[in-house]
Amino acid sequence: MTEKPIIIKTAKADNVGIVVNLNGLPKGTLLDDGTLLSENVPIGHKVALSDISKGDKIIRYSQIIGYANKQIRRGAWVQESMVLLPQPPDLDSIPLTDNPKPAPEPLEGYTFRGFRNPDGSAGTKNILGITSSVNCVSGFTGYIAGRIKKEFLHKYPNVDDVIPLNHTYGCGVAIDTPGAVIPIRTIKNIARNPNFGGKILVVGLGCEKLLPETLLPGSDQSKRGADGFVSKVMTMQDESYKGFHEMVAGLMKLAEEHLKELNKREREIIPASELIVGMQCGGSDAFSGITSNPVAGFASDLIVRTGGSVMFSEVTEVRDAVHLLVSRTVNSSVGQALIDEMRWYDEYLFKGEVDRSANPAPGNKAGGLSNIVEKALGSAVKSGTSQIVDVLAPGEKLRKKGLTFAATPASDFICGTLQLAAGMNVHVFMTGRGTPYGLSMVPVIKVGSNSLLSNRWFDLIDMDAGQVALGQKTIEEMGWELFHLILDVASGEKQVACDKLGLHNDLVLFNPGPVT
Ligand code: CA
Repeated sequence: MTEKPIIIKTAKADNVGIVVNLNGLPKGTLLDDGTLLSENVPIGHKVALSDISKGDKIIRYSQIIGYANKQIRRGAWVQESMVLLPQPPDLDSIPLTDNPKPAPEPLEGYTFRGFRNPDGSAGTKNILGITSSVNCVSGFTGYIAGRIKKEFLHKYPNVDDVIPLNHTYGCGVAIDTPGAVIPIRTIKNIARNPNFGGKILVVGLGCEKLLPETLLPGSDQSKRGADGFVSKVMTMQDESYKGFHEMVAGLMKLAEEHLKELNKREREIIPASELIVGMQCGGSDAFSGITSNPVAGFASDLIVRTGGSVMFSEVTEVRDAVHLLVSRTVNSSVGQALIDEMRWYDEYLFKGEVDRSANPAPGNKAGGLSNIVEKALGSAVKSGTSQIVDVLAPGEKLRKKGLTFAATPASDFICGTLQLAAGMNVHVFMTGRGTPYGLSMVPVIKVGSNSLLSNRWFDLIDMDAGQVALGQKTIEEMGWELFHLILDVASGEKQVACDKLGLHNDLVLFNPGPVT
């Protein structure tokens, strides 16, 4: 059998490569760089591409994933037992830096066709969002959205959708605790997502803890806010409504006022610098860190070079590579903010008596991941190589263009919800095992990490990054493809699989506060 050997080396500095042939590679295989395998190496595992002396660095993703505890000859299988885990610096001793790198070479001339908003941001869809201040009204907001779509939406052909922004918060929760800040600002900022065109419609019950007014950008109702937001509020217990049908009529009137305004908007040419791309992975496998995440990282760098914004998140997935991320922050205060978010999450997990020592899982190790540093690097690689210009706490709105770390749990639904609050207008989601994840508020581009999944789920996955593992395309080629796909999807010229099929997940708030 003479299968062409395929080795993935993620950076020039790497002294190990990953075997991606489905059956691994046998002893005696000659690699393209002249390395001769001295033993069989399984799929997903590492082979030494140069001699590594005892105590030398083992480098992957151009980072130290460990130190050799014995001499490793070029061509040998670098097994977990040979790799000493580098001591991750504790959060109090990570050096902060003030060494801004020169700006990357700008990418000019890239645009998409989006909806320009009064605050300068741009939507990739034109949606009427109906915010609820409390779970009690979610049946009502769902009813109204359904009726508008069935009976009225055809009158507003430029409006793509009407979406009730329902959740389980608002009452029956401790609202004056430090933890309440996160869910409240999340609900508030989701209503300000660029895809809702600056038109805010809040429905409350009237006796809930979370007052609808709290969710508005300005305190005045039905008036223009400082950023051009127009807000309207309706409460079901308003005594002027007699019976359900008057409530329906009351909300319909407010909704139609917004719909008329939203319908005036048309797609126009907008610089790619108005993209706000949220990167996330879920259902990862051994290929994620080799194919889909590096492809996403390459595309991320391209977006940043256009002047656009990229967010990456998932604290628990990057925690053990945080010292490497801190060294990429633009200045010491951003570095400190990143450390503070990690510390906050450490304490949150500690209170919940969660033990991280079981990570990586046996399945990860069997798949070739030696330790948590390597696993975290495989996840963080989706952030590309750009400088980290800002750090957001969960639920905060994006402040800067460029690459931002938006702190969120790794839970797909909670991460997506928090990235929506931060203002993302395109979501890129990498998966290896497969998940039908989707959101109705923004397009979600799903990138498969392996071709087996991408082919089996041909109508659920938007892009097959497994082609990288098969040697059919390079990370660079696929990174450019993903970049162009992001622009096409943002323009409404290509529809993502979950939108075609109508598969959309619920919003899930992150509420670290007590439920009463
Ligand atoms: Ca996730």
